[in-house]
Amino acid sequence: MKETDIVIIGGGAAGMMAAAGAAEGSRSRIILIEKMPRTGRKIIISGKGRCNLTNLKDWNSFSPHIHPKAGFLKSAFYGFPPEKTIEFFMDNGLRTVVERGDRVFPASYSSADVVDTLVKAVRKSGTEILTGQEAVSIEKKGEYFETVLSSGSAVRSGKVIIATGGLSYPATGSTGDGYVWAEKFGHSIRRCFPSLTALVPAGYKVLPDKTPGKGHIDRKYSLSELGKSLEGNQLKNILLTVTIDGDTAAEEFGDIDFTDGGIEGPVGFKVSRKCVNAIVNGSKVKFLIDLKPAVETGALKKRIETLWNEISQDGRSRRKSFGEKFRILLGKLMPMSLADGFMRTGGSMDVQRLAARLKSWEFDIAGYVGYERCVVTAGGVPTDEVSPKTMESKLVKGLYFAGEILDIDGDTGGYNLQSAFSTGMLAGRSAAMK
Ligand SMILES: Cc1cc2nc3c(=O)[nH]c(=O)nc-3n(C[C@H](O)[C@H](O)[C@H](O)COP(=O)(O)OP(=O)(O)OC[C@H]3O[C@@H](n4cnc5c(N)ncnc54)[C@H](O)[C@@H]3O)c2cc1C
Repeated sequence: MKETDIVIIGGGAAGMMAAAGAAEGSRSRIILIEKMPRTGRKIIISGKGRCNLTNLKDWNSFSPHIHPKAGFLKSAFYGFPPEKTIEFFMDNGLRTVVERGDRVFPASYSSADVVDTLVKAVRKSGTEILTGQEAVSIEKKGEYFETVLSSGSAVRSGKVIIATGGLSYPATGSTGDGYVWAEKFGHSIRRCFPSLTALVPAGYKVLPDKTPGKGHIDRKYSLSELGKSLEGNQLKNILLTVTIDGDTAAEEFGDIDFTDGGIEGPVGFKVSRKCVNAIVNGSKVKFLIDLKPAVETGALKKRIETLWNEISQDGRSRRKSFGEKFRILLGKLMPMSLADGFMRTGGSMDVQRLAARLKSWEFDIAGYVGYERCVVTAGGVPTDEVSPKTMESKLVKGLYFAGEILDIDGDTGGYNLQSAFSTGMLAGRSAAMK
């Protein structure tokens, strides 16, 4: 049996940063186990291949983007804040750039460069990297942990850091293995659900008779005629009101995208955590989209009347049907590509009622796209069962957690990778220190 000081399971953002942290100023022998042929598969697809690796906000502005209990992350954040992340990558040869909203990207805008830099740093730390090796079990035997690999070999170590990620994009290797071990060690897993994911309006997809899971609508289901008519539209500067069981639960101003999944985009993602959680709990979610938030209903009505009169009196309209004229009217109030989908979503071609519909375009939300295409997993190892100062389990000495496996998840904007880097660094440093 192989022997080492620290075993890290998972070669994602958290695991690789843990290796770098454990090697800092210590002579610990470290083995990193990754079941995929290469480390950092999820980082490769992050930020649409550009990898938004951190966000330069200070703690007071950063923490509102972390859920459900940001306080847990505070020590880890201060120990390895975004500035240190940038410094870490710079020291290892990767320049970064800061974009709108304090989001940080590699200057090359290539996520592969982020992975290569992390791998370089891990190798520099002297860590032995075992790729293509799946950890299948961990047991504590006296003072030591025994991690058994799919190859049948085992590694004995004084410390184990579990950094196996969550459940999102399982093709990257994140299949929730760590939750099973955490439970075996006595931890209670806080119910997981997909976050930063598409919300699917009723009638948007062609659903099989039985869809698995409460509200889970697989991304691969094909689009209905409604879905096809809306897909590809990007709406800028709208106001989205979310109601849950009839009560207003969120109001967000910004952009949404209609995609092959459903409603996404910055504002769609922002409310997705709340919405998926509500759907999973059996609540009814509704979206009300105000396409003209800058104009009051009264003023909008007047504008519509004026436009309608102009269209009706235009000589070219003489031979046009009411429906054709109504379409022309819609084209003056929204992108033409949206008009078909708008007409399909209930309501007759009523010029009088159009202002109200533009101010409150209603969608019942039938479900959400699941782990197959969500950005992050909410839920996981409860943070009150882990020391925020060290990332060590409060139940099992020598056992540490880092990254998305923990019950913390962030908004889009570099918050998730920074959380993985901060908790990974802290877990690595703490495991090496003890
Ligand atoms: C499409 C997409 C885009 C994203 N974009 C961004 C972004 O731009 N910015 C941002 O901040 N966040 C982004 N995220 C989220 C972010 O990538 C993750 O939160 C973060 O990578 C989690 O890191 P982790 O190390 O905790 O877990 P993971 O990256 O999931 O790594 C876990 C690793 O453990 C390995 N593993 C699992 N089980 C075993 C086992 N039994 N044995 C051995 N190895 C195992 C897996 O193969 C995997 O490599 C994105 C996520 C997705 C899906």
